[in-house]
Amino acid sequence: MREILDSIADCILIIDKDFNIVFANKAILDLCGLEKDEVIGEKCYVFDHRCNMPCSPALKGSCRATCPLTEIFKSGKPAVSLTHRHVMPDGMELLFDITASPIRDEKGDIQVIEVMRDVTERKKTEELFQNLLQVIDEGFIIIDRDFKIIYANKAYTDACKRPTEDILGRHCYAISHQFSKPCYEYGAEHPCTVKDVFDTGEPSRALHTHYDKEGRPIYVETKAYPLFKDKDGKAALAIEIIINITEKIRLEKQLLHAQKMETVGTLAGGVAHDFNNILTAIIGYGQVALMKMPKDDPNRKYIESMLEASDRAANLTGSLLAFSRKGISDKRPVELNAVIKDVGKLLRRVIGEDVELKTVYGGDDVTVLADRNQLEQVLMNLAVNARDAMPDGGTFTITTAKTTIDEGFVKAHGYGRPGTYALITVSDTGIGMDEETLGHIFEPFFTTKEVGKGTGLGLSVVYGIVKQHDGFINCYSEPGNGTTFRIYLPAIQPGAIDAPHEETQAVGAASLQGTETILLAEDDDGVRGFTKTVLTDAGYKVIEAVDGEDAVRKFMENKDAIRLLIFDLIMPKKTGNEAYNEIKGLAPQIKAIFVTGYSPELAGRKTSPGEGVPVVYKPISPKDLLREVRGVLG
Ligand code: ADP
Ligand code: MG
Repeated sequence: MREILDSIADCILIIDKDFNIVFANKAILDLCGLEKDEVIGEKCYVFDHRCNMPCSPALKGSCRATCPLTEIFKSGKPAVSLTHRHVMPDGMELLFDITASPIRDEKGDIQVIEVMRDVTERKKTEELFQNLLQVIDEGFIIIDRDFKIIYANKAYTDACKRPTEDILGRHCYAISHQFSKPCYEYGAEHPCTVKDVFDTGEPSRALHTHYDKEGRPIYVETKAYPLFKDKDGKAALAIEIIINITEKIRLEKQLLHAQKMETVGTLAGGVAHDFNNILTAIIGYGQVALMKMPKDDPNRKYIESMLEASDRAANLTGSLLAFSRKGISDKRPVELNAVIKDVGKLLRRVIGEDVELKTVYGGDDVTVLADRNQLEQVLMNLAVNARDAMPDGGTFTITTAKTTIDEGFVKAHGYGRPGTYALITVSDTGIGMDEETLGHIFEPFFTTKEVGKGTGLGLSVVYGIVKQHDGFINCYSEPGNGTTFRIYLPAIQPGAIDAPHEETQAVGAASLQGTETILLAEDDDGVRGFTKTVLTDAGYKVIEAVDGEDAVRKFMENKDAIRLLIFDLIMPKKTGNEAYNEIKGLAPQIKAIFVTGYSPELAGRKTSPGEGVPVVYKPISPKDLLREVRGVLG
């Protein structure tokens, strides 16, 4: 018997009912590096645990571990198995899986034979895997052939918003999809990677929508792998790895939206720019015709109606240019709260009597570099929409605050730049919008209002203006729960930037005539023709050029005669500014006026006008042009 026990690789002890070790096999003596006499007669709790008292949760001062021996001595019943921590004579702790069974000695007294298997390495590996699975960001579950979840890591339980007890032993389709049957029974649009794995024994992957406990969608990519394949290739279990791509999809959507707005902006801006040139000719010639007509000409009213319609068209192109950030903006340091206070009266009139206007000014005033008129327009457009959203009355609230945006904000929202901002929050208690509407509100001509009521340009203009101020805007809304817009504008130090000098002083109407020679460079035939008519009618001599190179050439040919350059900023071959600089190198005293449909700071460096050169914006009114010309010529 001794030889048999010595030949077994597991450690074996026989212990009597006074906890004395009466037998130790070779495996345990080798493990401890001890001789037989050093072990026999020793108390098991001293030998196994370096402790001077028996193990028992009932005993005070003992290590309070459950002892298999005590159980057996008490009940006489066999085979208790458990994992026990032993401390070796050299102090090292080992984990043993212990099977303890009663035997009788020659006197018939009860003894216990303990078979101990060293499972320290196995337990460590298990613990390592458990911890690894718990700390990884991807959801990880193990599913049996009945589609029951038998393991779930923290990422998965967190994503489901359920405790582990609520998940283990339940069907994966019930937890991930809140279905009562396996997904594949709901049709082909519900691919099941786990079923694939059980059917084929091969890995499978799919894009899915899971739902958390509250029913909110989680967009996921799932990958399933077979575990414990039998000889027929059938898997006993499936591992499913679930990668949450909700955030990725959200950022992708945001990027797509930004790109769409960029494209629409380019299109709208391009159309508006060209259309402005046409309008300049229509309005200009119309005004010239009026000037030349006798006061009592019966045809005047037709021209006047035509000009009124053109004005509306000019407003429309103005809105489109504002949306595409090509509107004219005259930015100066302004105090935000002051602007809102000033525009309050107007807003109250817009929202009507049934709607209450609330303004909440947060802390110190914030200074922003902004075009006051444009800021007012933003608030007006938002107020008009709020009024439309609250036909039965409600509250329209404007709140201001100073706020900082950090990297965390940028990462979470997918837009913005770190810095200090003025935050204007504009909210109403109106009808709100659904998600579909929300996705389109900033697009030009998008409206949900009946024909004739909405133009769909209000928010496009808001969007363009905010962007033009290097700010950003977002909107939160739910049907029936009102709407909140948040506008962030970069804050500046008060007085950080000097206000630009006032434009050339206006000149009286009497002095709009002149005889000087002017070089007029403009690539659009309509605009050039009209401008020339206005100038020649006022007595000036006009030399025409059709592009930037032509302008330089014509200047060289008429150097001595030309007193003034009127250049379109954006022209083929050479921009207005390039041509002007070239000419200025030859004739430093030359005077110039630039004409443009774009806001100067947006036209870009190459095309932006030089210091001190006045700019006239399209569509041009003849009087403004003549006034500017006289002002520059003196
Ligand atoms: P319009 O007001 O001419 O329709 P906007 O560009 O101002 O054009 O607005 C576009 C759309 O956005 C509106 O038709 C409406 O559906 C929605 N909208 C804008 N503001 C609000 C708001 N405060 N509450 C509910 N819906 C709004
Ligand atoms: Mg509107």
